[in-house]
Parts: sequence; C-alpha cells; structure tokens
Amino acid sequence: MKYCVHCGNELQEQQVVCLKCGAAASQKNDKFDGEEYSTKSKLACGLLQIFLGGFGVGRFYSGHTNLAVAQLLVTIFTCGIAGLWGFIDGIIILASDEFRDAQGKKMRD
Ligand SMILES: [Zn+2]
Repeated sequence: MKYCVHCGNELQEQQVVCLKCGAAASQKNDKFDGEEYSTKSKLACGLLQIFLGGFGVGRFYSGHTNLAVAQLLVTIFTCGIAGLWGFIDGIIILASDEFRDAQGKKMRD
C-alpha cells in the first residue's frame, strides 16, 4: 500500500495518479524512508578495511580517498605498525549502525 504525498489518500500499487487530488504518485513513494542508498556494501567495506586497512583499501572503496591515502602513508612510515589503525577502522565500520560513503549516502549492509 502506498499513499499520496499531497493528500494522504490511499493509492493502489499500480496507480500513477491520485484520484482524490490529481497529484502524480511518485515512484520514490515506494521507498520506506525515501533516502537514497549507496550502491556500495558496508560489509565489503569493513572487511576490506580489516584485512587491507593498512593500505586504506576499504576507505578507497567507500570514497574517503584522503583518509585512505593517510592510512596508506602512515602504514609505510611506521613500517606497518599503523596498519592497526585500518584494522580498528574496519571494526568500527562493521559495528556502526549506519556508515556513509563519501557522498553521504548510507551504505547497504
Ligand atoms: Zn492526493
């Protein structure tokens, strides 16, 4: 069941125009919260960060390029010790309820 965004009238799934007020029933209406999701996966991002976080791979994936480059450089300068940063970052990504990519879109689980 979907509802008209203008008057709240109940609409059939296949209905494109509200019969009560005449407003076009938008496709976005079907989405539960109307928020645009990232095409990327939080799980993939977190796992990449846990295994390859020292190279910032997960952060490259999510589009946070500056952070990814920082992780890569710090790992090189500390001969790998700071790779722990990427590892912890990956755990935080996986543990977070909502993790957003560089465009601010919520990533899928
Ligand atoms: Zn309406």
